Amino acid sequence: MQAAIVTVGDEILAGSTVNTNASWICEQLHDNGVQVARITTVPDRIADIARVVNEYQAAYDAVIVTGGLGPTHDDVTMEGVGAAVGRSIEPHTDALAWLEKSGGYKASKRNEQAAQLPAGAQLLKNEVGVAPGAIVDRIYVLPGVPTEMKAMFEQISDAFVGTETVTETVTIDEPESTLVDRLNDVQSKFDVSVGSYPGHYVRVKLTGEDPAVVRDAKAWLEAQSNVVPDEQTE
Ligand code: ATP
Ligand code: MG
Repeated sequence: MQAAIVTVGDEILAGSTVNTNASWICEQLHDNGVQVARITTVPDRIADIARVVNEYQAAYDAVIVTGGLGPTHDDVTMEGVGAAVGRSIEPHTDALAWLEKSGGYKASKRNEQAAQLPAGAQLLKNEVGVAPGAIVDRIYVLPGVPTEMKAMFEQISDAFVGTETVTETVTIDEPESTLVDRLNDVQSKFDVSVGSYPGHYVRVKLTGEDPAVVRDAKAWLEAQSNVVPDEQTE
């Protein structure tokens, strides 16, 4: 399964909000064996949201969108998502009923605005905040406030299941440039993907679906490298 993440917000593009939502969602999806193919941040503009969500909805199995859900003038995500899938924005009966029952916004007009969802969308209740989320055509729309986003993600996490993989790490005390041939070899000899992360040492991550194959790849690489023992890497 492949997913894309779209984070909405001028404040992210201005550098005043760090995009922790994207990295948190990536971690959850990765742990579920789902591959994240894209992370894109767009401004609070309907056309920008619609264009990217439309493209990713066509290309990937699921799109997760966060931010811009409240009833204020710069919260246009639902409109952007609606435009992406050719659905109008309509009052959502369940969303409005839920907002009114759970307290919602102080002004009831705000409830009506926040309860405007793409036609036919499924409501996602915001258990720790106010603005409701939605699911429509494999697009999952979540709030921007991290605590709210995380709580809502828990409601949908079962939809994200991929192939389970295992990863083994080999830490090597050699310049990364000297490892190029070895890393190519390990990738072609074994059914693993190889990531190389230079720092004080080079951390090589070997990932695959079969634990025995990943272990064999690790042993092969260790046998011809200047390996740093685990206790020295912590
Ligand atoms: P609200 O209903 O409170 O308006 P919202 O869903 O409309 O919520 P935003 O207005 O986009 O969300 O963002 C609310 C706050 O959440 C931002 O000020 C920011 O602090 C935080 N936030 C938004 N997007 C992200 C993100 N991608 N990563 C981390 N924090 C974020
Ligand atoms: Mg907002």
